[in-house]
Amino acid sequence: MKPLFMILAYLAAVTFPLILSWLVGGPPRAFHQELASGLGIMAFAVVLMEFVLSGRFKSISNGVGMDVTMRFHQIMARTALGFALLHPFLYQGAPSGGQRPWDPMRQLVITTDFSALSTGIAAYLLLPCLVLLAIGRTQLDYKYETWRLMHGIGALLIALLLLHHTVYAGRYGSQPVMTWLWLTMTGIAVGSLLYVYLIVPVLDRARPWRVTSVSQLTPKQWEVTVTPDGHSGLNYKAGQFAWLTIGHSAFSLKENPFSICSAPAAGPEVSFMIKELGDFTQTIGQVKPGTAAYLDGPYGNLSVEGRSEPGVALIAGGVGLAPLLGILRQMRLTGDPRKVKLIYGNRVVDQIAYGDELGSQEVCYVLSDPPANWRGESGYIDAALLDRVFSAKEFSDWAFVMCGPAIMMDIVEDHLIQKGTPSDRILSERFDYD
Ligand SMILES: Cc1cc2nc3c(=O)[nH]c(=O)nc-3n(C[C@H](O)[C@H](O)[C@H](O)COP(=O)(O)OP(=O)(O)OC[C@H]3O[C@@H](n4cnc5c(N)ncnc54)[C@H](O)[C@@H]3O)c2cc1C
Repeated sequence: MKPLFMILAYLAAVTFPLILSWLVGGPPRAFHQELASGLGIMAFAVVLMEFVLSGRFKSISNGVGMDVTMRFHQIMARTALGFALLHPFLYQGAPSGGQRPWDPMRQLVITTDFSALSTGIAAYLLLPCLVLLAIGRTQLDYKYETWRLMHGIGALLIALLLLHHTVYAGRYGSQPVMTWLWLTMTGIAVGSLLYVYLIVPVLDRARPWRVTSVSQLTPKQWEVTVTPDGHSGLNYKAGQFAWLTIGHSAFSLKENPFSICSAPAAGPEVSFMIKELGDFTQTIGQVKPGTAAYLDGPYGNLSVEGRSEPGVALIAGGVGLAPLLGILRQMRLTGDPRKVKLIYGNRVVDQIAYGDELGSQEVCYVLSDPPANWRGESGYIDAALLDRVFSAKEFSDWAFVMCGPAIMMDIVEDHLIQKGTPSDRILSERFDYD
């Protein structure tokens, strides 16, 4: 019910300016001109809602999942771009010129006033740049933090330019009620940026953490444990994740999302399983115990708490084990009566983390590049392997929780659906939104 409510709330928010513009009315114009205005109005509303979708609002991302929220953010950005690109061309043939004394609200003409148009033109040029830079982020070799800062500033600039253009050039935007609506919606959008970059860090600063240990799990994977420094800790569910800042101010952009691999039942210490990838994670081994840390969380909806299925299937690829380990630990610590099976895939033996703790009961190890004496499964986590591990009844009755490389998740998800596992029993977390 919650996702449905959120979809309806989103649709209401992006269509409300259009509906109100229609109610505010004005002398009728040709259909293509009304369509042009409508597309412009929709594009601006979608752009403003992007701030809310990218903001760290737990009520959104914990309901549908951060990966779904971010995918939706990306799709809607492209939709807004499509609307915006069409917007000026459809005005062709409309009477244009400056303001006529008998038409102070510009009901009958489209404006040619350059100051009102220039902000629209600037936003028109900036919006494709922002979307293309986001799509090509991984191909362009600049730091994630730099991109994130540019993305935020660019989006803010576009919103302010569009506000000016809509109010001063728009036939509907110049109506007082619409001006107030756009001001309010822009205020909410800008407020959500301030929330993420100002309010959240202020709250995090009041609840500092301290690193207690950093230990090497495998050649490229580490476990980092932090403990609350003068407060009760994080109220999280096994499987959720948090943004972690280590050794920087709470206001720093150097924060990264990591799944929590510890179990809430184990106490207030929180652990993360971190794989070396880029500039921050490659230096994780150098972090000294005692270093100050900040946590923003918990986020995400990868949780089996309160679910009624008789069994839980955990399917992990590489460092995707992190959230599933948290779930497994919580189930073991609380004596959870549900059956559990873990499939844990890696390329080589050296990459297997927590082997002693996981044991061999309930766990199916898979290696794509196994040594000669390997007694576990060989190959990839694919349909054939799933069929060997799970019975038809388990496919239909159990909850399936997975985390790993995108290709693994797609293969597993497709096979589960083919096997008749209802989609509400398939839970996943993606570490990569691209
Ligand atoms: C919900 C979620 C949970 C995750 N859990 C784990 C985990 O348990 N263990 C683990 O090893 N990795 C996890 N990751 C991936 C981890 O966040 C990145 O590997 C890490 O941030 C890379 O940082 P870097 O500075 O070393 O590399 P960079 O070179 O800066 O970044 C490499 C890539 O990591 C991603 N990334 C970097 N910073 C951020 C950020 N602030 N927000 C979102 N994405 C970012 C980007 O896709 C980027 O291209 C998770 C990611 C997400 C989204």
